[in-house]
Amino acid sequence: MSVIYPKIALIGLGLIAGSMAHATRRAGLAGEISGYARSAETRATAAEIGLVDTVCDSAAEAVRDADLVVLCVPVGAMGAVAAEIAPVLKPGAVVTDVGSVKAAVIEAVAPHIPEGVHFIPGHPLAGTEHSGPRSGFAELFDNKWCILVPAEGSDPAELARLRTYWEELGSNVDVMDPAHHDLVLAVTSHAPHLIAYTMVGVADDLRRVTDSEVIKYSAAGFRDFTRIAASDPTMWRDVFLTNKAATLEILGRFTEELFALQRAIRTEDGDHLHDYFTRTRAIRRGIIDAGQDTDAPDFGRVPTAKTKAPAE
Ligand code: NAP
Repeated sequence: MSVIYPKIALIGLGLIAGSMAHATRRAGLAGEISGYARSAETRATAAEIGLVDTVCDSAAEAVRDADLVVLCVPVGAMGAVAAEIAPVLKPGAVVTDVGSVKAAVIEAVAPHIPEGVHFIPGHPLAGTEHSGPRSGFAELFDNKWCILVPAEGSDPAELARLRTYWEELGSNVDVMDPAHHDLVLAVTSHAPHLIAYTMVGVADDLRRVTDSEVIKYSAAGFRDFTRIAASDPTMWRDVFLTNKAATLEILGRFTEELFALQRAIRTEDGDHLHDYFTRTRAIRRGIIDAGQDTDAPDFGRVPTAKTKAPAE
């Protein structure tokens, strides 16, 4: 593929920005990549590992002359960063973001975007529980979805260019409106994370078992909750504070279902439990058929020396 944006600026140099830098280089999509992160420590690490071509000391310096500016900071920081870079944005440049919530980011960022600059919000549905400049990898977006959330009247040519860029990073691209995006993500990502945080918190409260048994027997299902609950605290605090309505709506429904299952257990209504679990199993099948997860036993985890059965 040839260069899509002569200069790309990544603001925030963590998991998502790092993965974008690697995937952009893999496909040769930029002439130059500049970057900026808040702390000197992150900037030094990014420079040391050559994450981007130029690590700058301010966001304004990084976006100077950039054709594409990607805001890769926590959702709660997007507005302040947009205000800081606004005066130096190049006319005709595209500003996008990767924030996990869309309506709140648009509300915080759009007022700062100058006339003649295109703002096309986005969200790659890809991540891990790791963060920081060393956590990114080129394959993160392969065969994952990226949702673009253009405002009505957005420039079709710039929307098409950004779509091509994400496709070349490895993603499938869909377009949605912000409210719909925030509701879908509340169901598929935000509420599940809150439930995982709660489950791990409950286990931690039961100090009696956490010392040994919770770790020792974690393969029983708890382990998958702990992976999700290890996600970055700042990012997830911001997600819940900014996608409040949709998350509360889904948690309300979740609580109703939980009470119904609780009642089925108390009344020994095996048919209810069996029907419910049959329905949820079909959803898992659909995710595998859509290529969004593996059917391999134990989620395709590679056995390590510790987990491998001893040789006969
Ligand atoms: P991350 O690894 O923690 O990186 C965040 C980066 O933002 C760090 O370089 C941090 O700098 C920088 N930063 C924080 N506040 C800043 C500020 N006020 N000004 C400038 N830089 C600042 O986070 P991430 O996982 O890449 O997430 C970034 C964005 O992607 C978030 O909006 C998140 O919602 C979204 N997202 C995340 C995932 C996921 O699974 N992780 C998936 C999709 C989308 P320092 O290191 O110096 O603090």
